Amino acid sequence: MITFAFISKFMFSHEDSLQKDRNDSLASFRSQFHFPRDAQGSLLYFCGNSLGLQPIQTKEYVMQELDDWSEFGVEGHLEAERPWVRYHEFLTEPMAAAVGALPHELVVMNTLTVNLHLMMVSFYRPTKSRHKILIEYSAFPSDRYAVESQIRFHGFDPKESLILLTPKDQNEYVSWENIKEVLESHGEEIALVLIGSVNYYTGQAYPIKKITDLAHKYGCKVGFDLAHGAGNLLLDLHNDAPDFAVWCSYKYLNSGPGSLAGCFVHEKHADDYEIPRFAGWWGHNKVDRFKMSPQMKLMRGAEGWQLSNPPILPMACMLSSLQLFSKAGMPALRKKSLELSEYLIQLLQSLNHPSIRILTPQSEEERGSQVSIQIRGGDKRIYNELKNIRIIADWREPDVIRVAPVPLYNSFSDVYFFYDALKNIIQSK
Ligand SMILES: *Cc1c(COP(=O)(O)O)cnc(C)c1O
Repeated sequence: MITFAFISKFMFSHEDSLQKDRNDSLASFRSQFHFPRDAQGSLLYFCGNSLGLQPIQTKEYVMQELDDWSEFGVEGHLEAERPWVRYHEFLTEPMAAAVGALPHELVVMNTLTVNLHLMMVSFYRPTKSRHKILIEYSAFPSDRYAVESQIRFHGFDPKESLILLTPKDQNEYVSWENIKEVLESHGEEIALVLIGSVNYYTGQAYPIKKITDLAHKYGCKVGFDLAHGAGNLLLDLHNDAPDFAVWCSYKYLNSGPGSLAGCFVHEKHADDYEIPRFAGWWGHNKVDRFKMSPQMKLMRGAEGWQLSNPPILPMACMLSSLQLFSKAGMPALRKKSLELSEYLIQLLQSLNHPSIRILTPQSEEERGSQVSIQIRGGDKRIYNELKNIRIIADWREPDVIRVAPVPLYNSFSDVYFFYDALKNIIQSK
């Protein structure tokens, strides 16, 4: 029998990764980004899941708005090259394409946790018999805080109203069986199912359509937090048909630190003006918004949830980045992303080392770009040494290194370099 180590010696080489880069039709996008640098040159960047890199053209887009502001003052609302009163509309189409939404199902506004609250105001309507919210046991803390505060806001107690999806087996991720079981036994008590499309810690991607269909069968409302899914997975929100979704844009969508968030409200709610909501003047019908009438006339679809006139500068950052997504196309990006992460997983497996374990599920439909590597014993020195040799990944307590090779700007040789560095570090321990 040929051992795996023997095969891998021939399968994996630096040259092999360079060959993959030469065959990569998206390779030229890399040169459209700024990479962090130090005195020795560019660093190796694997944190696109946390803060995406800055596209080179972003500065030009922001400067355009600063110039228009200096040139036009208030008239820029109508006179700017891209008029500010409808600037968010320039974002709608490319963002809708990135997440598989219809344009009127989508609006860019606020930040992620704010949008999550606004959506819960509308879609978490607890009653005595149906007041529970189902989230993942390892949900991102902000989501959990937001959910618990909504439960309390409605006079319920998270101890009774919060259900956590908990994995049943050794794996640290939740199987479809887990989800089914919880919905089958508690579906009628659950008012809202709120799941992250990709878990920030494990990198597990959840099946949006399957969860939505089953939860709807039990009469639950369904929302997804796509913070780690937007710009990463091939999403099809309109057809998968959750009631709402929210996501930030500074991770895979490269729109800059703290930039604006996306909000999706499914078409089936577009004409329902009776849904309770928190309102603001930007949700008023744009045709006569400036008549400043005391009587609110809501806009149709997702735009009807807008509160304020939005900040133009972060929208300029977003527009510059979304244009790269439009050029590359999500299907091609997802394809390369899977190839990159598959390559990383194969390389890590070939190490066959007892101190590392791949936490992220390995089937294609259950992961995005991110691969979470568990370091047995939680030896953070391994992460620190990567950092010392100028590799930016991240460490999540107690024992995980998250690595996200992203298809717009990471290469196969980046991945090989990471593997080679990790190999040298762990073999010298
Ligand atoms: C990144 C992230 C957040 C951050 O929320 P902000 O409101 O943008 O600060 C929240 N939830 C999830 C799942 C995230 O991944």
